[in-house]
Formats: sequence, C-alpha cells, structure tokens
Amino acid sequence: MNLSKFPRVSLAHLPTPLEPMERLSAALGGPRIYIKRDDCTGLASGGNKTRKLEFLMADALGQGADTVITQGAVQSNHVRQTLAAAARMNLDCKVLLENRVPDAVETYKSSGNVLLDGIFGADIRYRDSGTDMDTAMEEVASSVTEAGGKPYIIPGGGSNRIGALGYVDCACELTDQTSNLGLSVTRIITATGSAGTQAGLVAGLTALNSTIETIGISVGADEKTQIAKVHSLASATAKHIGFEDGVAESKIRVRDQYIGDGYGIPTDGMLEAVQLCAQVEGILLDPVYAGKAMAGLIAMIRSGELSADDTIVFIHTGGSAALFAYDWFFNEHISKLK
Ligand SMILES: *Cc1c(COP(=O)(O)O)cnc(C)c1O
Repeated sequence: MNLSKFPRVSLAHLPTPLEPMERLSAALGGPRIYIKRDDCTGLASGGNKTRKLEFLMADALGQGADTVITQGAVQSNHVRQTLAAAARMNLDCKVLLENRVPDAVETYKSSGNVLLDGIFGADIRYRDSGTDMDTAMEEVASSVTEAGGKPYIIPGGGSNRIGALGYVDCACELTDQTSNLGLSVTRIITATGSAGTQAGLVAGLTALNSTIETIGISVGADEKTQIAKVHSLASATAKHIGFEDGVAESKIRVRDQYIGDGYGIPTDGMLEAVQLCAQVEGILLDPVYAGKAMAGLIAMIRSGELSADDTIVFIHTGGSAALFAYDWFFNEHISKLK
C-alpha cells in the first residue's frame, strides 16, 4: 500500500520494536504474546498520537496554519504529544482540558501529563465534564482568527481520517515485521478510545487483505457505541486510501467489560496488569488505556477465549507518564505479585 501521496512530517522513531513477551506468556500459560512498542515513538515520552500527528501536522502546515487547537481529558497523552509536535513545527498550540474524571485528587490535576504540558509552555483552558468540546474548540478557533491568526483544529485523540493514516501505516509496518519473523498473528489487541488507532489498523489490514482480527478494549464507551465510532472512522479512512467499499461492520470487534466505573477510573484488573507487566517484563503500561487493555487480554486468556494456539500482538499505545498522576492509587495498592 502506498501512503506517499499523503503529506507527512517526520516526528516518530519508526519502526517501533516488536518484541516477544515470553515471561508474560509463560506466567499466563496462554498464547504467544508480542508487544508492539508504540510507547517508544520517541516524541516527548512517546505514545500512539505521534503517528497520527505526522499526518495532521503536515495537513496543518499545508493549510498555512500558524496555530493548532486540540482537546482532551486532563491527563491527555494526546495533548502532551500535540504540544511537543507543535513546538517542533514552530506552531502555536492552544489546548482545552476537560475534567472528565470525577473526584480527582490534586496530583491528577498537576502531575503526569499536566506537568509536562506546562513544561511545553501550554496555553491551557479547563472545561467542566460534559462540555461540548468540539464547539469549545470552534470558539477558540474564532478568537484566533479574530486576532489575525490561522487556526487548525485537531480533533480529540487526533482521530479523523487524516490522523488514522498513522495507524494504516502501522498496520503495514507490523505486517512487515511479523512476516520477517515468520509469525502468523491471529489477533491484535489494542485499547480504543477516540477510535483512530483501531480504525486505522482495521482500514490498513483490510487494504492489505489480512485476516488478522483486531480487538479493541474500550476505555469508556459501551460496546455498541464504540463499534459504531470505530466503524464509521475505519470506513472513512479506507475510502480515503482508495478503498471505496469501506470496511464491513462485522470486522469491528470491541469489548467493554474492562472499563470498570468509567474513563480514567482505576480497576483491579488494571492494577494487576500494570504490576504484572512491570514485574515480569520490565515494561510500564499506563493506568487509563494500555493497563485496561492488558487487563482485557489477561482476562480473555484466563477465560479460554484466547488459547495457546493464538499468536497475539498487543499494541502498547504509551501513556506511562500518567502513572505519576495516579500515585495516590498505586501507593495504596502496590504489591509484589511473584
Ligand atoms: C489516546 C490513547 C489511546 C486510545 O487511542 P485512540 O486512537 O484514541 O482510540 C490508547 N492508549 C493511550 C496511551 C492513549 O493516549
């Protein structure tokens, strides 16, 4: 597949490594597990948004923008990576943070990603939970225009058909790596939120005629809502790369059992997953996305839904900077698992 007609800037360290998790596989007595290290994309402590921003920033520059505007939850990894990308591209960046996690302690609002946002010199405005963030971004864009600037809005999570190209590219990169290693992967597991990661992967794998199934572990929305969101973006992305038929809805697999009480709220499964990966593999996950996705993977192995015959690729989408904002939770519950 050829993505070279799409404008792109270079921000990420690519290809990211694909590594076996031999000790985790052994500890769980389950399938062969590989981890795609998209936490190692390199920009400002890495993560999945960097791949999307390579295409989004190129689009912003192509439109002559001088300011990018984006939004996220308070501990948004997307906002942190966007601020870093904007610094690199010499663009102004204005961000809106939504107080999406109720009853958050003080460190949640000042540590982790928020601390890093400040170091990037972020112009941050806070909004209450439930605010229509797209409208709020439009308002900021109008004020930039009135002041003589040229704004470019990047949607939450960088998830539109332009940003999702980053994960079409990841699908190509991953299938190259697995064929070089002689692996026949049966399933990919990834966290899914704003949907661009899963949608881009599915669009890319469809275009490559791959039979690998991608399972998204939802971090907030119920299964039906998330499937609709991923499906709509996967189809738009497939069309954008020339696949007029789009993607069948039956190709979109989502699990919503691992969310717990809501977005960003810790679960026992996440606690176990974060500690297990740290203690048997030396890998830090994050509490909001990859930790819950790994909790889903572990549960699917224990229930027999994934068997020893499977070969799994887990996408590590990054976010470990947010661990610092959950110190109150980990400090209370940390244990040595083995
Ligand atoms: C944003 C994010 C995700 C979710 O990816 P989407 O493309 O928004 O679905 C997963 N993991 C981390 C660490 C993220 O920051």
